[in-house]
Amino acid sequence: MKRRNFLKNSSAATAGLISAPLIASCKNDVEKKAANPEKIKLTRPIAICTWNFKNATAKAWEVLKDGGSSLDAVQKGAMVEEADVNNQTVGVGGRPDRDGNVTLDACIMDKDGNCGAVLCMQNIASPISVARKVMEETPHVMLAGKGAEKFAYEQGFEKVNLLTEKSKQEWLEWKKTSEYKPIINIENHDTIGILAIDKNGDISGACTTSGMGYKYAGRVGDSPIIGAGLFVDNEIGAATATGVGEEVVRTVGSFLIVELMRQGKSPQEACEEGVKRIMSKNAGRNDFQIGFIAINKKGETGGYCIQPGFTYRTYSEEGHVNNPTESFIKA
Ligand code: ASP
Repeated sequence: MKRRNFLKNSSAATAGLISAPLIASCKNDVEKKAANPEKIKLTRPIAICTWNFKNATAKAWEVLKDGGSSLDAVQKGAMVEEADVNNQTVGVGGRPDRDGNVTLDACIMDKDGNCGAVLCMQNIASPISVARKVMEETPHVMLAGKGAEKFAYEQGFEKVNLLTEKSKQEWLEWKKTSEYKPIINIENHDTIGILAIDKNGDISGACTTSGMGYKYAGRVGDSPIIGAGLFVDNEIGAATATGVGEEVVRTVGSFLIVELMRQGKSPQEACEEGVKRIMSKNAGRNDFQIGFIAINKKGETGGYCIQPGFTYRTYSEEGHVNNPTESFIKA
């Protein structure tokens, strides 16, 4: 596509090495380093995901270690959780909306700023794969609802029943006492956001979810919204979110984290600042959860959450690492 070629040609990414000015923050630093272009060696490939999805990062690592692209790595990693019927907030087996329909949201973004998303899509097992098709096969960024589903069939995806017996029974139980109120997200998490850097130093990200359990029909959270649930800037880094999507959308959370890294914050500092920003707009509330993870161009990672108990997973040459994080509201 013309638009994509334009983005490709204008990308500032280089293979293996980047110039320090690209990740330097304040103007003076940029000017100083530009005069003396010092090279920073990129770290080896790495994959990082929200929560403790070790099968997802392991799958992403399989792709990366064989020299595959970060885009393939994040897609394949995300697909592991989408296919896992035991994960009740992603893909097949996800919790339904309050009317009993499973509706899925996902987005994907590559090193050139290309992106694709599907919103509120039913009956398709791998929304992240459809999001990638939106990115690669259409001139659009987002397809929603029936249109997204129709597009998926045109692309050869099969119709699948996403509602497992377990999720159905739980939904029927919920209906007895809930008065139709969606569950405010504290324990109802497990959205997967996954970020990767490949051997060329290029960054991609993916995010996929069935969203808030028993939500209003048609509700869409942050996860398929570029800038909210996911953002990638190949010069700087990437971030992704999990938790109450409405709060992440309000603050354009993942974009904020990447911009904070652009200003010189480490991924950890940027995630902490993003969470604090959200909390400052929710004075007195502690009944919801937001977690961010981030990675910068050097391969440094970070994660932070409002509530305790948030963890993120990395996979690099050193193998699996589970990274429990600090929280804003102490247990
Ligand atoms: N962020 C997702 C949403 O609001 C849910 C989650 O991460 O738990 O749809």
